[in-house]
Amino acid sequence: MYSVTKRIDFCYGHRLLDYDGVCKHPHGHNAVAEIEVRTGSLDASQMVCDFSEIKHVIKSWVDRELDHKMILRHDDPLVQPLLGLGEPVYLSDANPTAEYIARLIFDYATGQGFRVVRVTVWETPTSFATYGLINRDADAAPSG
Ligand SMILES: [Zn+2]
Repeated sequence: MYSVTKRIDFCYGHRLLDYDGVCKHPHGHNAVAEIEVRTGSLDASQMVCDFSEIKHVIKSWVDRELDHKMILRHDDPLVQPLLGLGEPVYLSDANPTAEYIARLIFDYATGQGFRVVRVTVWETPTSFATYGLINRDADAAPSG
């Protein structure tokens, strides 16, 4: 089994609703997303997939949709004031935790045909969340 992982850096702001902790207040993160792609056989270029292809497709999307945005649950009272001020907001359908963002990126990457087995979002240098086919054979990964 071959595996490649691409790191994507991005910044975002968020807050968590219905949550009793410091993360209920607006704050930001310098995040790192790791996108792991696996395959049992290499392509004609002897690659799992081209790093530049992951960068082109997935990093472009992260830059466009999430980078330097407030990621807020759609019913967050901050949404309308920020939009009214012309601030960039990404609306999530659930609390925008690191777990949620990992799944968001996983679903997008999978939808673009990458055989992604794992997306890990580092919210801080010591805390990360992973969504994917953890500890499962990559043969079960979504196919292109
Ligand atoms: Zn946070």
